Amino acid sequence: MAAQAVAGDRRALARLLSLVENGDSEGKVALAKLFPRTGRAHVIGFTGSSGVGKSTLVNSVAREVRSRGLSLAVVAVDPSSPFSGGALLGDRLRMRDLVEDPGVFIRSMASRGHPGGVAEATRDVVMLFDAIDVPVVLVETVGAGQVQVDVARIAHTVVLVEAPGMGDEIQVLKAGLMEIADIVVVNKADRPGAKRTLQALRSVHSRGKPAAGHHGASADRAPEAPDEAWAVPILQTTALDGEGVPALVDAIEAHRDYLQAGDEWQALHRRHARAQLEVWLRRHLRALVDEHLDADAFEEALLSVVRRDRDPASAAQELLAKLIRSLASQS
Ligand code: GDP
Repeated sequence: MAAQAVAGDRRALARLLSLVENGDSEGKVALAKLFPRTGRAHVIGFTGSSGVGKSTLVNSVAREVRSRGLSLAVVAVDPSSPFSGGALLGDRLRMRDLVEDPGVFIRSMASRGHPGGVAEATRDVVMLFDAIDVPVVLVETVGAGQVQVDVARIAHTVVLVEAPGMGDEIQVLKAGLMEIADIVVVNKADRPGAKRTLQALRSVHSRGKPAAGHHGASADRAPEAPDEAWAVPILQTTALDGEGVPALVDAIEAHRDYLQAGDEWQALHRRHARAQLEVWLRRHLRALVDEHLDADAFEEALLSVVRRDRDPASAAQELLAKLIRSLASQS
């Protein structure tokens, strides 16, 4: 199925996507096979509060990317996104040409029902598109929160979408979202107050941290920070009629070029790989304990802790040491 999907078989891809999204073990096997093919797609995350026009903007950006001759995928993690089917009829009609375009892949993620969590299912789906040579993947997420920050960590370029309105800039600050943004967009530039929001964001940002594509705490990127910092552009768009969208896509491409010109692209992949490796180490370790820990030894340790002969921390350590010794003697 993986080979068929790589060869362009849409039905194989659709089945594989479902397996991967559901955390199915067959999907994991396929992903492992496809992994060497990944690492080339430019992954762009769009994030921002509900109603700022993210979906409309992703729609316009997708059109602009297509007009530049690239195929692309849209992965919507936002349940209210038209890409996820949560849209009004008008929105869906507006995206009909995208849906029917063979160069556009659309996948929506339900926000529940993923055994490893939404962020993991999203990462796997993105990886799959990457593996079948889709050069651009747009990931749309909603609101503030852990899932959104996790999803931002999948992306090379994070676009924070805002809209005119009182208090927006304060909300952005509160949520700490400016820190993960590589590009900030004030959408609905046709609305009153757009200029003010733009200015507020610009002043907030110039007071903020040094601009350099922040993905996560500055501490974990500090050792690999580039010499030439990326200056976060603060742009305006009117997603409804596409005004400002070419400039946004220019900025997105400029950010990719910036990452690839220095060591940042590699450094990002290294950080992502490290995080993934750590997750899997813990997971495998947990599975080892669940599957191989000697139940009698556990009972014995439990009794000794209940009797207060042993403290739980050192009893656990001893159990683990025993487990490792017995596994070593088996192999
Ligand atoms: P999301 O919840 O952030 O994904 O926002 P949507 O894309 O669903 O848009 C929310 C509403 O804002 C919809 O009614 C859109 O038609 C409208 N909208 C989106 N972009 C613009 C824009 O640039 N200008 C104006 N005036 N309305 C917009």
